[in-house]
Amino acid sequence: MMKIEENEIDRLARCDCHTHPGYSIDAKGTIEQFILAAVERKLQKICFTTHIDLDPNRSAVDKFIRYNGRLYVLDSSIVHHYIDDIAGARKKFGDRIEIIYGFEFSYEPHYKNLIEQFIAEFEPEFAIGSVHSIDSFEITAHKSIDIVTRIFEPFRFVERYYDFVLSLARSGLFDVIGHIDGFKKYLSRYWGLSNLEQIEMEILPAIAHKIAETDTKFEINSSAFRKGFPAPYPSAKTIEILLDADVPLGSFGSDAHRPEDVGSLIQNAANYLKGII
Ligand SMILES: [Zn+2]
Ligand SMILES: [Zn+2]
Repeated sequence: MMKIEENEIDRLARCDCHTHPGYSIDAKGTIEQFILAAVERKLQKICFTTHIDLDPNRSAVDKFIRYNGRLYVLDSSIVHHYIDDIAGARKKFGDRIEIIYGFEFSYEPHYKNLIEQFIAEFEPEFAIGSVHSIDSFEITAHKSIDIVTRIFEPFRFVERYYDFVLSLARSGLFDVIGHIDGFKKYLSRYWGLSNLEQIEMEILPAIAHKIAETDTKFEINSSAFRKGFPAPYPSAKTIEILLDADVPLGSFGSDAHRPEDVGSLIQNAANYLKGII
């Protein structure tokens, strides 16, 4: 397996690189509240990754951003509020914690160019790319997962999912791949976790070697622990496949959607990783 040193794990675990302040449609809490929570947890850095979904097929449901508690259709003036908010927080708290400006983008190949334009316009310092839907069917929410299981066979699904992940990595737009095996959370109830892991072991190694040829890394997302799972995203087998193929770990993230969860269980995720390397 690719070597990752314990002190490198400790260094990465000092940043919560995946947080959703109240700008994301399903999150609450101000930038300032998130920062104060991060300072309290003794984090060295916090990266804000407001969720951006540019899928034209999903614009009626996903293309929103929240500002001062209200939902707006995503437009550049609100993104500028977000940027100004972070800049203001840096002036106020910059001597106590490093603050990074970023986004988590939903990714599918058919709107890659829209993400590219967005990144060119707003120049984030950090970008997570996450596959939240396949063919515009959401795979990380209860309400649509039933449809997904009727459209796809498990093998075909996992294959298509990882094709999209490879496309994401090859796009060169993102620093890290978000919660790479997060699809298991919803689909294991239908298709069985061990079945999905078996399929993943057949498909992922070849994909992982191709991801390793790009500059895109993977994140370890501790939100799975909060939902009662015994492992983060990705779990041990997936991490092994990625590290074996020399895909580097890029970040840890809590996926906090409220201040209380900033930095939460990142240390557990770091310990989990140390336990398997
Ligand atoms: Zn996500
Ligand atoms: Zn997220």
